Amino acid sequence: MVIATTKIQYKILLSIILIAGLLLTLFTSQWYWLNKGKNDIAAQSEKQINELVLFIDQQLAQFEIIPEVIATNPILQEGLLAQKDPQKIAQLNAYLSELQEVTESSDIYLTDALGVAIAASNWQQPNTFINQDYSFRPYFIEALSGRAGRYYAVGTSSDKRGFYFSNPVLHNGVVLGVIVVKVDIGVIEQQSTGIAIAGQYEFMISDPDDIIFLSSINHWRFRSLAPLSQAKRFALNTSKRYATRPISELAIKPPYNALAEAELHTYQITSANGSETFLEKNKLMPKANWTLHVLAPLKPLYKSLPTIMLLTASLYLLLVLLILYAIERRKNLRRMLHAHNLLEQRVKERTLELEQANTKLKDTQDELIQAAKLTVIGSLSASINHELNQPLAALRSYAQNTQTFLGRNMFDDAKNNLKIMIELTDRLADIIAQFKSFTRKSQGKDNAIEIEQAIEQALTIVQPEIDKQGVKLCKTMLKGKCQIWGDTVRLQQVLVNVISNAIVAMQQSPMKRLNITASKATTSNKLIISIQDTGPGVREGQMSKIFEPYFTTNERQGLGLGLSISQRIIESMQGKITVENDVEGGAIFKIHLPIYLYEDART
Ligand code: ADP
Repeated sequence: MVIATTKIQYKILLSIILIAGLLLTLFTSQWYWLNKGKNDIAAQSEKQINELVLFIDQQLAQFEIIPEVIATNPILQEGLLAQKDPQKIAQLNAYLSELQEVTESSDIYLTDALGVAIAASNWQQPNTFINQDYSFRPYFIEALSGRAGRYYAVGTSSDKRGFYFSNPVLHNGVVLGVIVVKVDIGVIEQQSTGIAIAGQYEFMISDPDDIIFLSSINHWRFRSLAPLSQAKRFALNTSKRYATRPISELAIKPPYNALAEAELHTYQITSANGSETFLEKNKLMPKANWTLHVLAPLKPLYKSLPTIMLLTASLYLLLVLLILYAIERRKNLRRMLHAHNLLEQRVKERTLELEQANTKLKDTQDELIQAAKLTVIGSLSASINHELNQPLAALRSYAQNTQTFLGRNMFDDAKNNLKIMIELTDRLADIIAQFKSFTRKSQGKDNAIEIEQAIEQALTIVQPEIDKQGVKLCKTMLKGKCQIWGDTVRLQQVLVNVISNAIVAMQQSPMKRLNITASKATTSNKLIISIQDTGPGVREGQMSKIFEPYFTTNERQGLGLGLSISQRIIESMQGKITVENDVEGGAIFKIHLPIYLYEDART
């Protein structure tokens, strides 16, 4: 329960972290994207503004020189000096009209020193400039003082936006009049708009009063960037720069600040078509004293944001999934490693347990083998007893005789007796040594066994019983030297067991004959020890049973373990033990063992 609650808490915490991470990533990515986008746009605007300034400057420069050149033409001075001469004036009008056509300017006109136009290129038109008073225009005042003038304004008669270039017409150093070339700024605006459309931006040009008079957007024209104070309105009316055009404020947010220091200015401008946000860059055009503004719309940048956000969110989710997958994988690997270690530990424990059980089993087996061996010895005890008692009794009688010989000073006979007694003692020691070696627990060590020697040693153990039962022993050994690999004591135990069984089986037989033959198999490198008796043989139904543990027909003395243990011992030596009955009666036990070394006597 506690673990389940902790898991839920962990999941909630993880979800909160992931959501917070997503929001942070989205926020950062949006900030980065907008910032980068704005910087890119600003860099682009910088280039565009320079291009546009250059273009407009070049356009105006074409006309700048014209009034200066015309002013030197004597026809102008002559006209000014003879204003009452209609012929001269007509001549002047024709000249100006021709010039206007050649230079593709809007209008060219000549004013007298009072600012009243005396001749104009549009002399034929109804709203001709002739007789109009331009003395209030700054370009007139500038030229009157002997300098070239330039000015932007909406024509009072034409109501067209124009740029005016003026120059004084001098006669003997006195200003007789002023020649003015008016350029239709609408044409420049049109061409600039084309450039702006190609560059996907908007532009506007504002005068020193922050009034926009040129723009790629009609609605922005004749709007004030800054709030219009009463005094400013009054000044504008006085200068008649914008003739009768009403000037209103541009709906711009935040309020336009021409001196703003920030690198990037973003403004929201509202017009009839709705609101739009622009990034603004501006540049002063010093000659005209104008400010050119390039306004790059931020709409495309904001439009691309959802896609970017979606992409960022997808990448974030992918990253999160990858991280979660990696964590889960690591967890699984750790779990697997833990399980592997646990399994290894279990296997080790189990192996140890099995090893211990194996050792225990081996110990028990050894005990059982030892017990079976001692049982055989037990069954042979009577004859062994006899085998030992015989020399003991002889020793006693020789000792008594020796005593008598010594009493009669028959030292040579006594000496002879003592020699025999020593020999008897040696024989006793030999018999005991054999039994001692047979009855000792096996060390479980294998080595090469000389087969004839092993049979002889086994016979030493059973010899007293053979003698006691009056069994005739026939031995046929191999001619050469033959060795097998195994435990000597164990092999002896098998041989003693099979031989003593044969002796027991022959107890009731009239003829007791034991054939022990060691031979080499003809087809394989095997040794066969055959032990054949003349007993009744193994009963047919018991052939397969006699090797089973605890099967015995000798209830009085047998445990029924002898043959089953013998079989195990022989099998552990990679051999086998078989039984068959001889056609003439009696059992034949055959022990097959792999030969370790064989040396033929003939070689
Ligand atoms: P035990 O000698 O204690 O009975 P064994 O396992 O040595 O146990 O022998 C099992 C049985 O096999 C014997 O009881 C006997 O019936 C039979 N047997 C063994 N050797 C012979 C033999 N040479 N002839 C007839 N039967 C035999």
